[in-house]
Amino acid sequence: ERDRRVEPIAEPVETADGRPIEVAANVGGDDFAAAATQGADGIGLFRTEFLFLDREEPPTEDEQCEAYADALETFPDGRVIVRTIDVGGDKPLPYREGASERNPFLGARGIRVALEELSDLFETQLRAICRAAATEGGGELAVMFPMIATVEELEEAQARLEAAASALAEEGIEYERPTIGVMIETPSAAFIADELAARVDFLSIGTNDLTQYVMAADRENERVADLQDPLHPAVLRAIDRTTSHGSDAWVGVCGELAGDPAVTELLMGLGVDELSTSPIAIPAVKRRVREVEASAARALADRALEAGTRDAVARLLDGE
Ligand code: PEP
Ligand code: MG
Repeated sequence: ERDRRVEPIAEPVETADGRPIEVAANVGGDDFAAAATQGADGIGLFRTEFLFLDREEPPTEDEQCEAYADALETFPDGRVIVRTIDVGGDKPLPYREGASERNPFLGARGIRVALEELSDLFETQLRAICRAAATEGGGELAVMFPMIATVEELEEAQARLEAAASALAEEGIEYERPTIGVMIETPSAAFIADELAARVDFLSIGTNDLTQYVMAADRENERVADLQDPLHPAVLRAIDRTTSHGSDAWVGVCGELAGDPAVTELLMGLGVDELSTSPIAIPAVKRRVREVEASAARALADRALEAGTRDAVARLLDGE
């Protein structure tokens, strides 16, 4: 049996023909050091809701600021992408009331909750993010909004961020504006990726939710697990739609798909610039990036985009 362990690669990697690809970590807790040990270039998805779960009260602005600054200090030359609180759907909050919903994954979750019921909490988080962005000796701090489905939601989130920054300025508190990104997790966001990309610095495709919504298959329902497949041609076309947005924004993938080295070449071919995955998967993904040739990757992606079935995609990936 082949040895599956791969030595971590500490430095940033590029494809065989010299295209730099950022390989970052998804983290939920405070294990930034473990991510760095696996060779992460930064944090591509900081699932901040984990700071809010399993406790009686939400974390304070100072507590949050410290957590984000810790992450930044771990990656002085990298980027840390802080995703704003993403609750609802599969992630209930103990101190959140709210009626139960018949279809929680299609209901009040992600940015929808942050802008409405949890707006105070969202304001505190945005202040903490702006303060942490000014951390000395830290890398670049970015903020990313989950479950965006409309331009209006993005613009409202940006307005709240601007309000938080202005308040800090008035109070004489040190802060910086983070770079801004949007998660592409809804079919709507993929279809209007051009509109969204024109307004932000980056897009990050959350293939877990994007697949769930494109395929109309609950990500937690075993009965439809076969449909919850990010390599279905429909999902690949949604990714292509996103990377073809036509503005300067870079595009990453932060769903589970990003951690599969068997798919790295295809994602490069589709025009993805960054991969963010579980720390444990990073060494193998970095190694795979170094083998990829842009022209072969593009040809593979072109053929995958013409595939009509999941089986046809599988055959392509098997080199048939
Ligand atoms: C995703 O939906 O792909 C994603 C990365 O976010 P989460 O898994 O936290 O919903
Ligand atoms: Mg998601």
